[in-house]
Amino acid sequence: ATFSSLTDRLSSAFKNLRSKGKLSEADIDGTIREIRRALLDADVAVDVVRAFTGRIRERALGAEVSDALNPAQQVVSIVHEELTAILGAGVDRPLNFAKNPPTIIMLAGLQGAGKTTLAGKLGYWLKDAGHTPLLVAADLQRPNAVTQLEVVGERAGVPVFAPERGVSSEAVSAGLATPGTDAGDPVQVARDSIDFARQKMYDTVIIDTAGRLGIDEELMAQARSIRDAVQPDEILFVIDAMIGQDAVTTAKAFDEGVDFTGVVLSKVDGDARGGAALSVASVTGKPILFSSTGEGLKDFEVFHPDRMSSRILDMGDILTLIEQAQKQFDEQQAREAAAKMSEGTFGLDDFLEQLQQVRKLGSMKSLLGMIPGMAAHRKELEQLDEREIDRTEAIIRSMTPAERRDPSIINGSRRARIAYGSGVTVTQVNGLLQRFEQAAKMMKRMGGSTGIPGFGGAMG
Ligand code: GDP
Repeated sequence: ATFSSLTDRLSSAFKNLRSKGKLSEADIDGTIREIRRALLDADVAVDVVRAFTGRIRERALGAEVSDALNPAQQVVSIVHEELTAILGAGVDRPLNFAKNPPTIIMLAGLQGAGKTTLAGKLGYWLKDAGHTPLLVAADLQRPNAVTQLEVVGERAGVPVFAPERGVSSEAVSAGLATPGTDAGDPVQVARDSIDFARQKMYDTVIIDTAGRLGIDEELMAQARSIRDAVQPDEILFVIDAMIGQDAVTTAKAFDEGVDFTGVVLSKVDGDARGGAALSVASVTGKPILFSSTGEGLKDFEVFHPDRMSSRILDMGDILTLIEQAQKQFDEQQAREAAAKMSEGTFGLDDFLEQLQQVRKLGSMKSLLGMIPGMAAHRKELEQLDEREIDRTEAIIRSMTPAERRDPSIINGSRRARIAYGSGVTVTQVNGLLQRFEQAAKMMKRMGGSTGIPGFGGAMG
């Protein structure tokens, strides 16, 4: 899950504050030391950490905390604000669309950063929002890069403009390749793609450019030439969140080299440290526009500094959760379920419906980090697999309507019947009933407080 080890370390840094009514300077310094270590271990840049902890110390020792009703929560809230600032609060903004289409988006970054994958996701996302994107293969360096983009484009249902070489004859006859193009010149391909987009009324053009394994002047010069030829509305620097300490140098080099306009964090789903990428906004002063969280087309999100900060601090990301849920959930049903949860009349039938909704939401794992206080349960939840959901469904389907409404009537002989009917053991039926009871309790608790992302996780 996203930045999970950082989250664990930060929660434990706050743990010691929890029980305290009033915080001494020593308490605060102890916590700040732990925060500093957690950030450095996560590969957040040293200068960024120093400035960050300095500001937290100053504010935590100031009047803000000493007068606070709950000093510990106040410290968490200061850390949240400062982390949000590091992640680019103040410079954050949505994707910039051109007044006169096509909007031109150029992708830059090291080889393997995730540019081609991102091109597909961004194309898919734009298409979903009613745009007519075109992907452009201007990475002519890496063998197969053009084919890879074509595969990605096909999956996303977004057309790909590519030079003739390496392109199927279907693409040429469909007008997606220009037979006259010099296949060796990415600048020409980029230029042609814009004319093509104008002609065919594509409203956004996403140009995938070549990367190298390391920073390289020739590569940078090529990216600059493409930039100068097409004058992009956005130059997005794609950075692998797993890159470690090199993130800062790489970001600075691309900032100087192509003067990018925004950042995309990729591979945010990785388990490793990931903190380096968190320094990028504050080091370059450029906003992070998106994060890429997996290999699937939909594993892609608009980046919000405050929400990411809440997630890292395990304060949950209720807003994103609600937005994603709204996209997929049947709203009426969700409202009813929420009402039932807070009334305590949420039955197994409702549970079954929710399970089916959860399935629709796609990868459950990516949701875990968004639920406040879930970090503590992450391990158990990550083990929850689809087969388990299948089994759960089968068990519930073997129950009578009365049993689903009121599971407390399910006695020993009913359990045996249900187990037999669903092809599981009585122990598995018992397990489900127990889990349901726990979940119902938890939902009842959360039902009353979902409006305000509280301090549930960090403060227990
Ligand atoms: P490019 O060289 O910058 O175009 O990078 P690619 O798009 O080819 O990505 C390099 C590798 O990283 C591929 O194996 C991708 O499947 C993988 N990848 C890209 N984005 C993500 C992501 O968000 N999460 C994960 N887990 N893998 C990713």
